[in-house]
Amino acid sequence: MEINKVVNVIGAGLAGCECAHILASHGVKVNLYEMKPNKKSPAHHTDLFAELVCSNSLKSEEITNACGLLKYEMGMLGSLMMEAALATRVKAGAALAVDRDKFSEYITKKILENKNITVIYDEVCDIEKLLGTVVIATGPLTSDTLSNNISKIIGQEKLYFYDAAAPIILRESIDMSVAYEKDRWHDDEKGDYLNLPMSKEEYDVFYNELINARSADRHSFDTIENIVHFEGCMPIESMAKRGEKTMLFGPLKPVGLRKDENHKPYAVVQLRAENKEKTMYNMVGFQTSLAFPEQKRVFSLIPGLENAEFVRYGVMHKNTYINAPHILDYNFKLKNKVDDIYFAGQISGVEGYVESAASGLMVAYNILFGKYFEGSMFKEETMLGALAKYIATENKNFQPMNANFGIIKQSDTKIKDKKKRYEIYANNSLNCIKELKNELENIRRRLEK
Ligand SMILES: Cc1cc2nc3c(=O)[nH]c(=O)nc-3n(C[C@H](O)[C@H](O)[C@H](O)COP(=O)(O)OP(=O)(O)OC[C@H]3O[C@@H](n4cnc5c(N)ncnc54)[C@H](O)[C@@H]3O)c2cc1C
Repeated sequence: MEINKVVNVIGAGLAGCECAHILASHGVKVNLYEMKPNKKSPAHHTDLFAELVCSNSLKSEEITNACGLLKYEMGMLGSLMMEAALATRVKAGAALAVDRDKFSEYITKKILENKNITVIYDEVCDIEKLLGTVVIATGPLTSDTLSNNISKIIGQEKLYFYDAAAPIILRESIDMSVAYEKDRWHDDEKGDYLNLPMSKEEYDVFYNELINARSADRHSFDTIENIVHFEGCMPIESMAKRGEKTMLFGPLKPVGLRKDENHKPYAVVQLRAENKEKTMYNMVGFQTSLAFPEQKRVFSLIPGLENAEFVRYGVMHKNTYINAPHILDYNFKLKNKVDDIYFAGQISGVEGYVESAASGLMVAYNILFGKYFEGSMFKEETMLGALAKYIATENKNFQPMNANFGIIKQSDTKIKDKKKRYEIYANNSLNCIKELKNELENIRRRLEK
């Protein structure tokens, strides 16, 4: 490759590892900076790279699902995250869930083994001290010193909002005479999820305690006014406060979960395995900001969890991201800057594990081949291109975005059937990625001559 300079990637999270891996596998030398183990954010607990800080699910595997399609596209372009996920998956119905430790160990090993990557275990505080191309992939919990430095460079204040993480419970502490295994809408009794059914009376008791429970103490910046909840990651107590029945249409939805035809639960709490051995379970949709003792007290009111042992309590965290449409171009590159500075991952304005890794992958390809394309190399018909376009498109109420079919280039002909429509999007997208791969291969051959 003709890039002789070292590329500095800051942050060995999902985006940083993906970016470093793609660059290095094309022969580019990478300095990968990571502040762990010396310094850890409140949500990072291990010394490993690409740590999954909350759920162990990378969402649906179906190609007609937006995140599923994104994963297909990434797989075709040599994604390390996809390779690791497939090697360490645990059963989770139609979702691609992983054993979180094995997943991070896999990625860490691949990065450390790569001769083109030098890992520097240090907190980066001043980007302008780094020579050459810089990729900022420090995530939603970017260290404070670097956040201030970024604010200075981009000329505006960073923005805050909060995500919530769900508690994890030891399986052996769950009352298995109450819990049953079943996936939603599947007739066979065995399933990947554990279900805890509730009668109306049990639900009412739980509901009343939940809406009156005490929240964890907040930092000074952490006021309710500052909190922007994403519907997909809303704390369970906030959802409950919206109305007595709101949870019954959300995480506690009983439909498709009857044990047998005589069984009519009023509500069902679902638990998803956290590891291959199924020794730990995550409370699905129970992200929360309640104080730890309150979580124990209130969640133990759920039938089957009377003696639940919590391996990890739910928490709420600061989440930092930039106003990408004002600052970045469709290559995730800082506009109006002489030096090449790119943003990747959640801080760039995408939302989610897969999307973060996807942006890392795109940044790497942009650094490698961007100048050979007019406009973005990732077409709007692909989920990758749709995300790139989203972050670079003017938007007054800009907020980080998950992969979804609302942002992909819409078809000219109206197709009512949603499944069929998504199938067409998926086919178009995969054709574009195949074409892109051929184009990249041709450029590479030309350059090698
Ligand atoms: C509490 C919480 C829960 C979340 N739960 C989910 C979820 O369940 N599902 C989902 O899809 N998404 C979730 N997200 C959103 C997001 O997908 C993840 O945060 C994801 O890990 C982001 O990937 P990233 O690569 O951008 O950042 P990260 O994976 O956080 O990686 C950033 C890395 O940079 C390092 N770093 C930070 N500052 C510096 C510095 N100055 N110098 C050197 N290194 C530095 C960090 O130590 C870290 O290793 C959650 C976010 C938070 C905060």
